[in-house]
Amino acid sequence: MYGKIKEHLQKELAGIREAGLYKEERIITSPQGGEITVSTGESVLNFCANNYLGLSNHPKLIEAAKEGLDSHGFGMSSVRFICGTQDLHKILERKIAEFFGTEDTILYAACFDANGGVFEPLLTADDAIISDALNHASIIDGVRLCKAQRYRYANADMADLEDKLIEAQAQRFRILVTDAVFSMDGNVAPMDKILKLADKYDALLMIDEAHSAGVVGKTGRGVTELFDIRGKIDIITGTLGKSFGGGIGGFTTGKVEIIDMLRQRSRPYLFSNSIPPAIVNAGIRMFDMMSETNELQDKLHCNTEYFFKKMKEAGFDLKPTQSAIIPIMLYDAKLSQDFAAKLLDEGIYVIGFYYPVVPKGQARIRVQLSAAHEKEHLDKAVAGFTKVGKELGVLK
Ligand SMILES: *Cc1c(COP(=O)(O)O)cnc(C)c1O
Repeated sequence: MYGKIKEHLQKELAGIREAGLYKEERIITSPQGGEITVSTGESVLNFCANNYLGLSNHPKLIEAAKEGLDSHGFGMSSVRFICGTQDLHKILERKIAEFFGTEDTILYAACFDANGGVFEPLLTADDAIISDALNHASIIDGVRLCKAQRYRYANADMADLEDKLIEAQAQRFRILVTDAVFSMDGNVAPMDKILKLADKYDALLMIDEAHSAGVVGKTGRGVTELFDIRGKIDIITGTLGKSFGGGIGGFTTGKVEIIDMLRQRSRPYLFSNSIPPAIVNAGIRMFDMMSETNELQDKLHCNTEYFFKKMKEAGFDLKPTQSAIIPIMLYDAKLSQDFAAKLLDEGIYVIGFYYPVVPKGQARIRVQLSAAHEKEHLDKAVAGFTKVGKELGVLK
């Protein structure tokens, strides 16, 4: 039996390689951080992690994870509703709700699961989901798992969104869903306008704060802080896998009845294991740190501003950003790959993205800043970019 599909898979894989789309994995031999060691033994500066607050290897979180292991054991061997809920899980859920100014929270193994399990328990074929065209794959999959009518509007396009909301008046309930920060451009969804439209057309509002929580807003509370609309969003999803320590885990936080219904009916919650106590305890410590000091958010904001300013001065074409993601526009797919390869030789680790991940002719290098970066890291990166930029004729 395997012979036939084996041949088929080999052909498909060869096709992926020929198209230049085969994903190689670079092997890191150190903890995640601003500076990492790769398997060839070299030390490189890392500008492609979602480690926005530099917490992936933070001593306080490591200590809290160890304490969680000692006090509450290694694993739960259960889903939450059978025997997988510890006091720690309830504490973390409360801390997340406090952080976002919401009523209640439900934890998942990942934000992918949070998004995958949010629509189906709430909506039927009588209802509608109105989704931004650039929403994350996990939102798209969640929408697919639900029988509600689907409407898609062009990225952050308020006129198109309004048209879709008008069409969706035909349905009973409507959920409008958007990423808070779009990961390829670093732009923030225009939440003030979106909220107005949601109110006008009687739609629930859901946002995914994966790339914005910890980053956007003066204290990193996300887009609801940036737009001063705390408490006005019905459903917020997010991850513990990016800013918040980079371990694993996701959550949905929002209105109490919605969260309660998800505990009853959300399939990735009901049929998947509880997150382990070490991770949960580290999460609790992390949110405590967030309420004690704004040091890391401040440093991240300074780093982002500094890098943007220096790169502009160097003559690069940057997309304006409202997050810790800065796209360096190169427009040419091959150039983006050559540029990233040469930067690695300079000890700078970044990724070049091109079609189909970004639109045709919009190839770029995506830089992600972190509070783990020091000023000398940023200066070294700008110098590396400038050197390679001149070599490849991007800069004069
Ligand atoms: C990363 C990401 C996710 C997935 O988060 P995980 O916890 O890693 O599953 C979901 N939504 C968005 C917008 C993301 O960027």
